[in-house]
Amino acid sequence: MLLDIKKIFGTYDEPVTAALELDLSEEDFPGYTVPGTVEARITATLQGRMLEIALDITADVAFACARCLEERTRRFHVIKTYCVREADLSDPDAELSFTPDGKLDVRELAYTELVLEVPTVLLCSDDCAGLCPVCGNRKPCSCRHETSGSVDERLSILKQLLND
Ligand SMILES: [Zn+2]
Ligand SMILES: [Zn+2]
Repeated sequence: MLLDIKKIFGTYDEPVTAALELDLSEEDFPGYTVPGTVEARITATLQGRMLEIALDITADVAFACARCLEERTRRFHVIKTYCVREADLSDPDAELSFTPDGKLDVRELAYTELVLEVPTVLLCSDDCAGLCPVCGNRKPCSCRHETSGSVDERLSILKQLLND
């Protein structure tokens, strides 16, 4: 999964495009997994002395909802662009890191961008009410009196705070 960036600097004509299928299923992600194939498209276009690299990743993220623990899969689409100068190939402080012979590890880059992009706390839906403390089922459940009881409790705490 190495893209030869150094070589692209030597060929000044057409943009270079590569479509890759990456397997990140064994990688360690914070709070989720990426079990299926990750599709990555990378385009390198030389603009004068700058090489513009566009990365486009599509990944299906598998996770358990942080509130109700239901297993879900959500598709994430990440698009990033980077500008690389030839001098960056040997610069350890450059935005992208390259192998000593000027190649870019696309798999490593896709992994890093997914870790940055995918939240570590994921919910099945934004308004997920979580699990009922009484019956253990996903809310709304039939334990209505228990639910309203806890709301009243919270309201009375709020009232006390307001009185203070
Ligand atoms: Zn949920
Ligand atoms: Zn319940």
